[in-house]
Amino acid sequence: MKRQSNKPKVVIIGGGFGGLNAAKALGNKDVEVILIDRKNHHTFQPLLYQVATAVLSPGEIALPIRRALHRYKNVEVVLGEVAGFDLEQKNVHLSDGAQIPFDYLIVAAGARHCYFGRDEWEAEAPGLKTIEDALEIRRRVLLAFELAERKAVITGKPEPVVFAVVGGGPTGVELAGAIAGIARETLAEDFKLIDTRNARVLLFEHSPNVLATFAESLSQKAERHLRELGVEVFTHSLVKEIEPGRIKVGEEWIKCDVTLWGTGVSASPLGKALGAELVGRASKVRVRADLSIPNHQNIFVIGDMAFFEDENGVVPGVATAAMQQATCAARNILRDLKRESRQAFKYVNKGSMATIGRHKAIAQIGNWRFSGFVAWLVWMLVHVVSLIDPHHRRLVLREWLWSYFTNQRGVRLITGSVRSGTTEARL
Ligand SMILES: Cc1cc2nc3c(=O)[nH]c(=O)nc-3n(C[C@H](O)[C@H](O)[C@H](O)COP(=O)(O)OP(=O)(O)OC[C@H]3O[C@@H](n4cnc5c(N)ncnc54)[C@H](O)[C@@H]3O)c2cc1C
Repeated sequence: MKRQSNKPKVVIIGGGFGGLNAAKALGNKDVEVILIDRKNHHTFQPLLYQVATAVLSPGEIALPIRRALHRYKNVEVVLGEVAGFDLEQKNVHLSDGAQIPFDYLIVAAGARHCYFGRDEWEAEAPGLKTIEDALEIRRRVLLAFELAERKAVITGKPEPVVFAVVGGGPTGVELAGAIAGIARETLAEDFKLIDTRNARVLLFEHSPNVLATFAESLSQKAERHLRELGVEVFTHSLVKEIEPGRIKVGEEWIKCDVTLWGTGVSASPLGKALGAELVGRASKVRVRADLSIPNHQNIFVIGDMAFFEDENGVVPGVATAAMQQATCAARNILRDLKRESRQAFKYVNKGSMATIGRHKAIAQIGNWRFSGFVAWLVWMLVHVVSLIDPHHRRLVLREWLWSYFTNQRGVRLITGSVRSGTTEARL
């Protein structure tokens, strides 16, 4: 690929919270920036479960990367899948064989859920990371109720739909609460033979508490809120097998119509391709204080891919951390160009939150811990107001308020095959 100018060239991999914000921080500065992503859109991942449970449509939580960066004249966006690197020649290799040279590289390719060596479970138990994942989960959830009604029409015997959610972290808890909400409230009047309120939502967590990274008092409140919504919470429960229509928990097989995966994190394999030191089960890249990797001053790794530890502990894989690291990495590049010394990354913890159902949450901000409706309001303000661009913010707030006050879900379409997925057994 030809160089467009003599300015230093910064290549950014990933248009998520990290990459997009790095590009903005370098926007209209004296560098040439190329951002590469395999998707043409940025996804607001914290709102994915709203798409998976039919509150929001995909367009409301995604933004074309090109549009997000259109006002920065020095930033080009390239659609492509990065496959590897030639670090000596300073080239990024795309999967179609194309090469893109760089002077500086910011790698922000994120993470995916992992199945702890049982990748074959993914087909039976999809996780939630992309828009495609959310649409697949929405399809399976809605389809399960349709197939239960159809079976009741044919056999005359209505049976409750059973959902199993694996993992009691934020994703599992949010999914379980939202599915219980759909079953108990939203769909309750739409079916004639089955009573959707009888649906069972089972949440399995192998550790003693759900939301184990929160203070114990908050995780206990979260469990209570889940039970109030009708979710059956099973802690100390290890899922050992997943098959079509059933899962094995401990030594017991449990029949279920839909299984969803809400646990495990595995950083992008691009970390391995960088030849960097990988830390822990998630294989995150250990970065130095300035967020670069050892032996490569010009390569930064940020966001969910990065393992950064300071005196306050390990920086969590959350959107605010990715955004703060993006600003720091971009600033360090600009400081290099001005021949100023680099600054160390300092994480400002803005707190942790998780929603439970339609209007409850738990929140931990510094020493301040609270739960219930107030925590949900804070969660909504933080996520809608600080993470989303103004146009989408209006759309999301409008749809959310509509759903909140009318209890109606706007996007209940089942698209794609009605024969694939765990519910096929019912056909
Ligand atoms: C369901 C869910 C709920 C969440 N809720 C919250 C929350 O409430 N609060 C919070 O702060 N955080 C939340 N998070 C975490 C937050 O979304 C992540 O920490 C954040 O997205 C990390 O940003 P990132 O830039 O590192 O990676 P990402 O945002 O994942 O972006 C990675 C980008 O890299 C691209 N990419 C990957 N590989 C390649 C490749 N080989 N070639 C080209 N492009 C590539 C991807 O397409 C993607 O656009 C949630 C995450 C999920 C999945």
